[in-house]
Amino acid sequence: MEIIRRKQLKEKPVFDNSLGFGHYFTDYMFTMKYTAGEGWHDAKIEPNEPKPFDLATCVFHYAQGIFEGMKAFRQPDGSIAIFRPEENWARMNRSATRMCIPNFPEDVVEEGLEELLKLDRDWIPTAPGTALYIRPTIVATRIMLGVHASTEYLFFIILSPVGSYYAHGLEPTRLVVEDTYTRATIGGTGEAKCLGNYAASMKAGEEAEEKGFDQVLWLDANEKKYVEEVGSMNIFFVIGGEVVTPALVGSILPGITRKSCIQVLKDKGIPVSERRISIDEVIAAQKEGTLNEAFGTGTAAVISPVGLIRYKDVDYTINGGEMGPITKMLYDTITGIQYGTAPDPYNWKKIVK
Ligand SMILES: *Cc1c(COP(=O)(O)O)cnc(C)c1O
Repeated sequence: MEIIRRKQLKEKPVFDNSLGFGHYFTDYMFTMKYTAGEGWHDAKIEPNEPKPFDLATCVFHYAQGIFEGMKAFRQPDGSIAIFRPEENWARMNRSATRMCIPNFPEDVVEEGLEELLKLDRDWIPTAPGTALYIRPTIVATRIMLGVHASTEYLFFIILSPVGSYYAHGLEPTRLVVEDTYTRATIGGTGEAKCLGNYAASMKAGEEAEEKGFDQVLWLDANEKKYVEEVGSMNIFFVIGGEVVTPALVGSILPGITRKSCIQVLKDKGIPVSERRISIDEVIAAQKEGTLNEAFGTGTAAVISPVGLIRYKDVDYTINGGEMGPITKMLYDTITGIQYGTAPDPYNWKKIVK
């Protein structure tokens, strides 16, 4: 793979939790082009510098684009680990298919990512809770305003050293149930990690923040009855002895952290089910005292305890606003594997030497 070196490396920020999320970017990036007829070509690593784009570039107008979110972790022996990357590439190609973007060769981008991580290895922070966030993206780059799938694309991977996703770290998050706006519909693009989904969710997110909440809890678009997810996280409830997460009905993003948590729960013999769960069931369980825990899962936030849910102007505190034992077990298990402080019985980690 071609590597174009920088003349001078960038200055690095202080690598602690003050990094925040997605404010700093590393020295290099991976890029690859697609043109109809030629297919994907010209994979290379180059300095991460601004690129000029014609303002008629179609992604700016119709949002034909997709992305992924992954993390690289520094291991105790100094090596670099990535978590289940093959799952991200497979999901990205499913998102590509949904958005009329040509599928890409997964082995080429995996090699590109590994080379990129080796070059930017000094950008991987080591403080607890920090990681190097990986953002693979594909955007439609044809200069054209006709509403058609593009015939040209740019695949890129940029890297960002990050602290905790939420400003308050592992403190339980506060969610407000969204019963006006919808995130996704069956047959829409909710299952794909595409650019427009987040744009469509920002109004709800902003109103929630104004009211003092971290994020919204989305309900299904049809009946505003069933819980779907949290926008950048999938959601789990511990009710009685059972862990419940909404089934992937077509409007929910199939999270890799979600899938990993389900596997860990099954292996520990903790009953877990993927099924439709209504907001009324969640609230009834809270009133009866059987809603023991709630937590969100996602690469950015890892496992995030939910301390409070507001529904129809009433606040419901969960587990006294504290992180519960199942949430803690999953957090410790997943982060233990990722940071190399616990064994990896599933072989989920890919080590980059
Ligand atoms: C990325 C994402 C998630 C979490 O998926 P992970 O693979 O666990 O990172 C959940 N919901 C939405 C809408 C997402 O975009």
